[in-house]
Amino acid sequence: MVVHVSIHDVSPAWEREVEAALALAHDFGVRPALLVVPNFHGQAPLLEHPPFCERLRTLARHGHEIYLHGYYHEARSWADHAVAAVAQEQHGRVDGVAKRIEYAFAQHIVSNSEAEFHDVSPSEAIARLDAGERVLKEAGLDVRGFVAPAWSLPRSVHTLLRKRGYTFTEDHTHVYDPASQLSRASLVLNFASRTPARLISSVAYCRAVRPLRMLLPTRIAIHPADMRYVLLRSEIRSLLAWARGNVVDTGSELFDRFRFDAISSLAAPVRSSKPKQAVPVRSSPPP
Ligand SMILES: [Zn+2]
Repeated sequence: MVVHVSIHDVSPAWEREVEAALALAHDFGVRPALLVVPNFHGQAPLLEHPPFCERLRTLARHGHEIYLHGYYHEARSWADHAVAAVAQEQHGRVDGVAKRIEYAFAQHIVSNSEAEFHDVSPSEAIARLDAGERVLKEAGLDVRGFVAPAWSLPRSVHTLLRKRGYTFTEDHTHVYDPASQLSRASLVLNFASRTPARLISSVAYCRAVRPLRMLLPTRIAIHPADMRYVLLRSEIRSLLAWARGNVVDTGSELFDRFRFDAISSLAAPVRSSKPKQAVPVRSSPPP
């Protein structure tokens, strides 16, 4: 089945590593989607780096899709989180010990405190989507999809994406077309380099599950930090060689060769594929 490649955390903060990942992909004729962070960790405002914006525009002209990838790519600390929980209670969220466990799992086990959209309130999510879309528009980039940092995509954000006309998003297990209310199970291959144990186990996992590509459309997700490790550069090169001949340039093509599955909770009808348009970006004030 088809394979789609993306580079996460595209930001001036990772410029050298992003270029290394691009060079690797281009060696195989692959044009990865670029997951752009408007202001990585609040320290790398995209619009303050015009040459980097120009580089992204050039890549987009050459067929790289641009996806919005959060706004800060950083979660609040637990202290800030506890304050915000007061507001979140209004939306029926669980609080207390259960909430703290949920927070710790999302921010410390699944991600390194980067699951930005995991526990923002609905109004915060709207503000960050508005601001992110505005930054990418000002940078001259057409937004073709949204990917939540750490693939942490609450149902409420999914609903926001549908209302905004997004036609591509994803999490750990599925790809989605929110506008058409469609989903498809999809394998994702990516590496974790936070600790040596995670690095080795993620390499072993990616090698072990490769055969599932026979059953599922597959995503190769490259993170800039991967480029800092000889082993991971080698593994990604191996994955790109393994995928050769089956790589597609757009996320929507992960759906194209398959019968769609409607998102069950939304009870959408089964539909056929259609060409994807850029998301109309709205002009709104930053949060
Ligand atoms: Zn990311």
